[in-house]
Amino acid sequence: MSEVYNWQLGRKMAYPYAEAHPDRQFAFVININRCLGCQTCTMACKSTWTFAHGQEHMWWTNVESKPYGGYPRNWDVRILELLDRADPGGMKWGGAAAGKAPYGEYQGTTVFEAAGTRAARPQASERVLGYLPSDEEWATPNLHEDAAPSPDGQRGQWVRDGGSALPEHKSWFFYLARLCNHCSYPACLAACPRQAIYKRHEDGIVLIDQERCRGYRKCVEACPYKKSMYRPTTRTSEKCIACYPRVEGRDPETRGAPMETRCMAACIGQVRLQGLVQIAPDGTWMEERQHPLYYLVNVAKVALPLYPQFGTSPNGFYIPPRWVRRDYLKQMFGPGVDHAIEAYMVPDRELLAVLQLFRRDNRIIYRYALEEGPKVWETEIHGKPFTMYDDTVIAFGRDGKELFRTNVEEPLYVRPPERINYV
Ligand code: SF4
Ligand code: SF4
Ligand code: SF4
Repeated sequence: MSEVYNWQLGRKMAYPYAEAHPDRQFAFVININRCLGCQTCTMACKSTWTFAHGQEHMWWTNVESKPYGGYPRNWDVRILELLDRADPGGMKWGGAAAGKAPYGEYQGTTVFEAAGTRAARPQASERVLGYLPSDEEWATPNLHEDAAPSPDGQRGQWVRDGGSALPEHKSWFFYLARLCNHCSYPACLAACPRQAIYKRHEDGIVLIDQERCRGYRKCVEACPYKKSMYRPTTRTSEKCIACYPRVEGRDPETRGAPMETRCMAACIGQVRLQGLVQIAPDGTWMEERQHPLYYLVNVAKVALPLYPQFGTSPNGFYIPPRWVRRDYLKQMFGPGVDHAIEAYMVPDRELLAVLQLFRRDNRIIYRYALEEGPKVWETEIHGKPFTMYDDTVIAFGRDGKELFRTNVEEPLYVRPPERINYV
């Protein structure tokens, strides 16, 4: 095992390979508050990459209703239980949030560190703590859709009188859209005995070499997010490829410009933003103040990693849902939850503008700029003053040229009387 720095944990951790990072990293932000669970992203991926024989059970991107849904079934509860068995009560955070440790320091055990512990066996493989889901667990990707927990834990019950005042609704659920996180320390890669999995230097995308893979399923067992899947017809494992031909700019639509993935571009709710961020030698994100992903994750700190305690340093980040129990959210997204929700509920001028960049164009945004506009509205939200300005936010591509510009205030179109209900 080597020692590597994991900025999401705010500390060094054990990993089977030496520290090595790409120049740029594929990353994305999903705003859970606006996801409507329409599954358009799910079907966009399915119809592009996993429609063949042997891939029937594969959903490289999926949207599950939390807290009960999960694909494969109960994947996160299973991993959390294994981690807790390896280090009972250990999943805690401490220390001050600062600099290269934006969430403080994780004091528990990661899936890599737990692998060697006696308490973790027999589930731990040599390198990564994990488990192999059964065929039955893979078979029901959308079980418990739209099911809310009851306050007293009774099955099928919920709060019927509303109970829906912030900061926490009494009945709640939310949609968690997931895909491979193209982790900085991939557990799938760490576990593969054939070195068939690699992380690309140019964009950090994690791929499985189908020629080298022998279908041992060590990656399926090791990935804590369960985003590597076995295909019986080819006897190899497959996973999300981050739509790399699009990211490379090889889709004719954008004429060479890097393009967002299928699941990002198809998003009806406009909740997804994907890009490529620059990575420093220690794995932290290089300062790119005007990069929208850098801004959301490192400046506004409104988007948080999914289960950072697993230790893979996932590159998928989420704006947490503001109506959900905070203890549940903190287990899922770490200690940054309170700040992220406060920032999202009463967004400042820049955050409100950057949020307008989601899904306005298929091309990947590398930089944004703001042009200030007039004040259009002011009010109070949860006791805090909120002012809205009709600023213009401008997006730029890899070549530095403008991709598009959009305003904070949406335009109002009034249908002329002669066009009402026209056929
Ligand atoms: S999410 Fe899983 S499959 Fe994807 S890179 Fe991370 S460990 Fe590998
Ligand atoms: S990035 Fe591409 S391959 Fe990966 S889940 Fe999305 S659509 Fe599927
Ligand atoms: S397409 Fe967008 S809004 Fe619809 S389920 Fe997927 S992430 Fe949510």
